[in-house]
Amino acid sequence: MSIHSAPDRCDLLIRGGHVIDGTGAKSFAGDVAVTADRIDAVGDLQNTHAEEVIDARGHVVAPGFIDVHTHDDHLLLTNSEVTPKLSQGVTTVVVGNCGVSLAPWSADRPPPPPMDLIGSEQDYRFPTFESYRLALEQKPAAINAAPLVGHSTLRCSTMDNLDRPARHEEIENMRAQLRSSLQAGAIGFSTGLAYAPNRAATPDEVAALAGELQEFSGIYATHMRDEGDQLFSALEESFVTARRAGCPVVLSHHKCASPKMWGRSAESLARIDAAAEQQLIGLDVYPYTAGSTILMEDHIEASKRIMVTWSTTVPEARGRDLADLAVDWDCSLVEAMRRLQPGGGIYFMMEDDDVERILTHPKSMIGSDGLPHDEHPHPRLWGTFPRVLGHYARERQLFTLEQALHKMTGLSAKTFHLADRGVLQASAFADIVVFDPDLIADRGTFEEPEQTAAGIHTVLVNGTIAWQRGIGTGSRTGRILKNPKTT
Ligand code: ZN
Repeated sequence: MSIHSAPDRCDLLIRGGHVIDGTGAKSFAGDVAVTADRIDAVGDLQNTHAEEVIDARGHVVAPGFIDVHTHDDHLLLTNSEVTPKLSQGVTTVVVGNCGVSLAPWSADRPPPPPMDLIGSEQDYRFPTFESYRLALEQKPAAINAAPLVGHSTLRCSTMDNLDRPARHEEIENMRAQLRSSLQAGAIGFSTGLAYAPNRAATPDEVAALAGELQEFSGIYATHMRDEGDQLFSALEESFVTARRAGCPVVLSHHKCASPKMWGRSAESLARIDAAAEQQLIGLDVYPYTAGSTILMEDHIEASKRIMVTWSTTVPEARGRDLADLAVDWDCSLVEAMRRLQPGGGIYFMMEDDDVERILTHPKSMIGSDGLPHDEHPHPRLWGTFPRVLGHYARERQLFTLEQALHKMTGLSAKTFHLADRGVLQASAFADIVVFDPDLIADRGTFEEPEQTAAGIHTVLVNGTIAWQRGIGTGSRTGRILKNPKTT
């Protein structure tokens, strides 16, 4: 418990809740005092007077959730409330994952899939990372954003043909762009080596770019080359690349995504633990047995079921099962998918046991991987954090509430070098969520995915109330979080 001399006055007092501070420490009864954008004190503050008091009796008071794996790059500009995230208690999103970031690229052609998941040609209009950051700062969102720069985006802005490794001068050009992005505050670099625009990049190309990170304490986040049959060689590649570059690596949405790999998360996690004795490794995971991305034929065989999230050619197919469409059309699954292209899908390609084992691993952080522009999105977009707290902590009792919260607050801020975030302590930024531990739950389903969570009482971002009792306040106090070496 951190009593930091109880102040006489504060702007806002959250009174009488169960405080869970985000470090993994046990909850305690206490009050939280906020002045301006920071926490003044946490503890017994009965003599502190406040302009405004939030009655938190029967509720948990925790740091705002950090969604470490998002594709909200463009959503931040088009929906300042960032409703799918703010409504579930998220106060910070890491954007630019899976090799796909909105900047730096001033598009001269349509973005190739999967870059079309976050925007169309006219949305890729930021020639530098700094121009994107300034756009966000001029039109602030309700929540904070910590941006990565994507390798596919750099390749699009530099190369005429993405089907080959980059040439020496192209690598130098991408390095220079990444470096100026890091100087302008980007928190790291991401790859999406399973995807066409990034696949031809050699380990040497990736390591050369990631080599820029060290000086900025930047993070390397990777959607690995393979999460199915070649999972173990992909893990090895990720470890080696980060060691060569001298930077921490975060393994994105860790999963065992093919029948051959089902049940092998104990081995993959053991491999991660062994490598983590020599280097800094983090991983994120979403709490569902289905993934979602563009329509990809190589996922057909490994999936038990595929649902269509959008299709340009057959828009009315959204929300329907690929198998049903194939019956209607009297064709194979491959042929049905071809008719729907370009489009997106939800792939039921994981086992419960693997998802639970990865969720409980002490290094795993929670990241939604939600796709905000999909017409019929995977329910993880709206429900990831309440699902971990409701379904997995309260109902399945996979871990304590304190452990679950650590995976979405303190551990996440520490791994991504987000200073003074992710903890409820005096002098930390006042990103705070007040929720009912008995009621918190995700309400979306695969059939009806766009549902706000149950049990979220109040959300504060940088000291200002952004969401209360089911509705946004219109506040726009989110900030762009920068790497620790930017001033
Ligand atoms: Zn990904």
